Amino acid sequence: MADLKLVKLPNSILRKKAQKVGKVTTIERSMLDDMAEAMYLSQGVGLAAVQVGIDRQLAVVDTGDGLIKMVNPAIVKKEGYETKEEGCLSCPGECVKIKRAKKITVSYLTEEGEVRELKADGLLARAIQHEIDHLGGTLIIDYLGPIKKLLLRTKKRKNK
Ligand code: ZN
Repeated sequence: MADLKLVKLPNSILRKKAQKVGKVTTIERSMLDDMAEAMYLSQGVGLAAVQVGIDRQLAVVDTGDGLIKMVNPAIVKKEGYETKEEGCLSCPGECVKIKRAKKITVSYLTEEGEVRELKADGLLARAIQHEIDHLGGTLIIDYLGPIKKLLLRTKKRKNK
C-alpha cells in the first residue's frame, strides 16, 4: 500500500492536462487501488490521479453504489442540466454551485484494459464530470462568476 498524499491548491499539477494512458498495466492497476484508498480515507465520492500528484488519466468514483475505476474517461453523451453545490478535496473550504449535465454516458477503459460505456445520472453523473474536469486541469473555482473569483483572490491574499 502506497500512502498517497492529497494535492491541494495552489499546486500546479492540478492545472495540468493529465496524460492519456496508452496501455493499462499493473502500474495503473495499483495506482487505481491506492487512489481508491485515498478517496475512502478522505471520505470523498471521487478522486482523479492529479489530485494525488499522478499525471495520468485515471479516476475513481464511489457514490455509494460501489467503486468504479476509470482509465482515460471521456463523456460521449450528455442529457439535461442540473445545478448543485459541489466541494472538492483539492479546494478545501470552497463550495461552488455548478451547472452540469444531469445524465451522461461515459466511455473509459477498465483496469483490465477493456472499453466500457456507462450511463449515469444524479450524483454519480456529477462526480464523474467533476473527475473528468480534474483530468483536464479544471477546478470547481473555475465555475465561479467574475466577482466571486475576485473575492476569492482577495481572501487568499489576506490569508497569506
Ligand atoms: Zn475535485
